[in-house]
Amino acid sequence: MTQIERVTDDVYVFTSELYAQVTAGVINTRLGAIVVDTLPYPSEAREIKEYVESHLSSRVRYVINTHYHGDHVYGTHIFTGAQVISHELTRQRLSTTGVEGLALAKSESSELSSVKIVLPQITFDSGSFRLRLGGKSIVLNHSPGHSEDVITVLVEGEQVLFASDTVMPVPFFPDGDIKQLMKSLENIQAMSSKVTNLVQGHGAVILRGEVTGYIEKQIKYLKTVDSAVRQVLKRRYSKKSLLRTDLASVDIDRAVLGGLAEELHWGNLECLYDRLKRYVKPYPSRRL
Ligand SMILES: [Zn+2]
Repeated sequence: MTQIERVTDDVYVFTSELYAQVTAGVINTRLGAIVVDTLPYPSEAREIKEYVESHLSSRVRYVINTHYHGDHVYGTHIFTGAQVISHELTRQRLSTTGVEGLALAKSESSELSSVKIVLPQITFDSGSFRLRLGGKSIVLNHSPGHSEDVITVLVEGEQVLFASDTVMPVPFFPDGDIKQLMKSLENIQAMSSKVTNLVQGHGAVILRGEVTGYIEKQIKYLKTVDSAVRQVLKRRYSKKSLLRTDLASVDIDRAVLGGLAEELHWGNLECLYDRLKRYVKPYPSRRL
């Protein structure tokens, strides 16, 4: 089941009630619809397709995959006849890690048994990509960090930004890179005053007036995590001492994303600790 929200005249957001409040979108135009991400379960993707066909009397012309993670792309095979667009890195990741991940996911959930990986037919690998359809102009921008292939989708005119997993209630980078994620968040921050609705990859839509503060908080979270891990390594403390940097200390509500916040936050700390331990020099030990 999904929750459906109309954020502007022609833009709709679908939020999964089955998995981690992952989001998808529909941009309707007079020549057909563009779907942004397709949710994890075929039943949810079918809901989007039916909504476009029966409520909007339209048809899906394009599907955009914002990155290769299964919860954003497994529904893509439902949209037969649509052209699929992504970053070139997404296509590469889908054909390797994506195929392996799906086999594992199928062994864990029978609801995924009919899922097939669809390789995007249209890709871009540098800068941005513009898609025009039925009077609407959509701009896709590379936004690495959560994973290296993430793209954001801006609906010009309405100024709705689908930020994919560059923005989620707990910024998450173990499959990517914290520095790149900070840079990508700064890019969104630079345009944030113009954004009317920011659709996160997971969780609630952020409205105009709250976007700038929300992105600022995300960048601050990453800086806090980075310095907490560096301090622990400099002082030669054990990995366990990272637990002191709990959710309350980074100002994140533990109830967000159906209780997944703790797991994501710990995943960040642990991953950064393992990555930085080779590079961070401990303070010299005192010899008396
Ligand atoms: Zn993701």
